[in-house]
Amino acid sequence: MANESTGRIDNVMHEARVFPPTPEFQAKASISSLEQYQQMWDEAKANPPAFWDKIAKTELHWFEPYRKTLEWNEPFAKWFVDGKTNASYNCLDRHLSTSRRDKPAIIWEGEPGDTRTLTYAELHSEVCRFANGLKKLGIQQGDVVSIYMPMTPELAIAMLACARIGAIHSVIFAGFSAEAIADRNQDASARVVLTSDGAWRRGKELSLKATVDEALKKSPTVEKCVVLKRVGNDVEMQPDRDIWWHDLIESVNDDCPAEPFDSETALFILYTSGSTGKPKGIKHTTAGYNLFAKQTFEWVFDHRDDDIYWCTADCGWITGHSYVVYGPLSAGATCLMYEGAPNFPDEGRFWNLIEKYKVTILYTAPTAIRAFIKWGDEWVDKHDISSLRLLGTVGEGINPEAWMWYHEKIGASRCPIVDTWWQTETGGIMMSPLPGAIPTKPGSCTKPLPGVIPGIFDENNEPCEKNQGGKLTITHPWPGMLRGIWGDEARYKQQYWSTVPNCYLAGDNARLDDDGYYWIMGRIDDVINVSGHRLSTIEVESALITHPNVAESAVVGRPHDIKGQAIAAFVTLRDAEPSDELKAALKLHVRKEIGALAVPDDIRFTAVLPKTRSGKIMRRLLRDIASGKESLGDMSTLEDVASLSKLQEED
Ligand code: ATP
Ligand code: MG
Repeated sequence: MANESTGRIDNVMHEARVFPPTPEFQAKASISSLEQYQQMWDEAKANPPAFWDKIAKTELHWFEPYRKTLEWNEPFAKWFVDGKTNASYNCLDRHLSTSRRDKPAIIWEGEPGDTRTLTYAELHSEVCRFANGLKKLGIQQGDVVSIYMPMTPELAIAMLACARIGAIHSVIFAGFSAEAIADRNQDASARVVLTSDGAWRRGKELSLKATVDEALKKSPTVEKCVVLKRVGNDVEMQPDRDIWWHDLIESVNDDCPAEPFDSETALFILYTSGSTGKPKGIKHTTAGYNLFAKQTFEWVFDHRDDDIYWCTADCGWITGHSYVVYGPLSAGATCLMYEGAPNFPDEGRFWNLIEKYKVTILYTAPTAIRAFIKWGDEWVDKHDISSLRLLGTVGEGINPEAWMWYHEKIGASRCPIVDTWWQTETGGIMMSPLPGAIPTKPGSCTKPLPGVIPGIFDENNEPCEKNQGGKLTITHPWPGMLRGIWGDEARYKQQYWSTVPNCYLAGDNARLDDDGYYWIMGRIDDVINVSGHRLSTIEVESALITHPNVAESAVVGRPHDIKGQAIAAFVTLRDAEPSDELKAALKLHVRKEIGALAVPDDIRFTAVLPKTRSGKIMRRLLRDIASGKESLGDMSTLEDVASLSKLQEED
């Protein structure tokens, strides 16, 4: 019974539904059968560098060819050794001699409803001008530029301008505190900060510049601050330090050739959201990252030239880097970019945007999907969203119940769903269905992409058998992998390469089912140990969510004298008021769905769950609350601090 000695995790969820791609979808898909996928995967597994070599030759532009595909000196990888390329060139210049020159690259809508469209030629020229502006400030290869901006085209322009001249961007989500900005500036020794006078969020102006001013008091390395005029409110400009964006580019021209950079030139630093602890600066480099973002974008979204693709992520997250900017633009896609909240001016905004721009691919997060369900179907029903052909999700596991709603209500039971598992560290999608080839199962990210070779291990580093959960690892280097944690080699080695010999440790648990499908079981730190049975959070949460009155749930373990740990569940409701009867009903529900073992000892109703600003549930904080801890850990990335103190009071 118990898995005490092996640390393997019990699988208590039984999800048997399977959804093959429709023949219509399959007919047009570029990878259109399981056999075709399997053949690619097998070929890649036999010799990963040879596989990537073939792709890199055609998919990136090389100023100078590389000498060797991979130099692996564990845990340090060099991909495409001594080659010269430029990510900004791959995203822009490459398209200018093709019919994509005048194709929209970015279709943007601001929260108040203002719009802009930039073709590839126009985007290229804007990027060149801003790159020249950065040069005027003395920015050169290797300098770090912090970007704290709203989701405007200028945010993408800034990233690509950095890439063009070899500056390293560090995008900081424009909702983080002055403290968080100062920490990141300091850690990366940023020389310049880019920001705006403000941003729109749910009809209100956020004063980004004022927050940056505060941060710059504690950012001694920052010399200049460039300010985009976005909302038009008054800001204080410090004459020797601050400069308006439009002034900076006023007298520059749009001639700024992309410089050839070594494949391993640092492209960006991105601090992870901190669901588990102190944020760390993940470092990515040029060629491998660029190739991986582009290729995975094309595979997973089955991109066609007439697609209108919308990834709702903010560029403050890795998803915004890889699937708003580098992946889709390298592939020549048309991307919709939206500045504001999903519920402004009303809860139908997303569906309104999809109708208005005839979006064909929607890529969003489980937290959004759960909010849509809670807001009600009537918001969807008001709009014609029949242009959609493909749906995606990322960021957390998606509960099968939410998956089914997404499939039926948004996808009209016709659009495949790509549940994409990956991390800031992996640079791009690692596991996901290829939508024309792999039948989907609600709650499973299905199979690894070609070139990605996972392994699942128990506490003793023995490979797990099928249907038993263990530590998810990647057993061979891949081009998009992180190249380190900024300024902290020891932490890089310790965190990712010291647990399972010769493998990258993802930090998540997973299991493989009888059909070779992967199921992510949550973070290693979140496993709950009840009487020697190790349970995954997502399975219990998914059971709770199948109850009609549960909108969202998070379960954690708390100390228990006899069982080791007891399950504490935090639940937000829909169409119901908190009551003891409902608590009892929910316990009974879990017992029926998955069994007595998984029944929560405590159920607590709450108005909101603590989440990171990218919308992930912070179970680590709930764990502290459930076990009655007075002081909680690092909260710098928490979305709504008030929600947490309320939860503590309710205790
Ligand atoms: P930190 O590492 O600082 O705690 P984080 O892990 O939340 O932050 P990200 O790199 O943005 O930062 O998130 C990656 C994690 O998100 C994965 O390790 C996994 O736990 C979760 N995740 C992402 N996509 C999926 C998915 N499709 N299914 C299940 N979990 C997912
Ligand atoms: Mg992580």
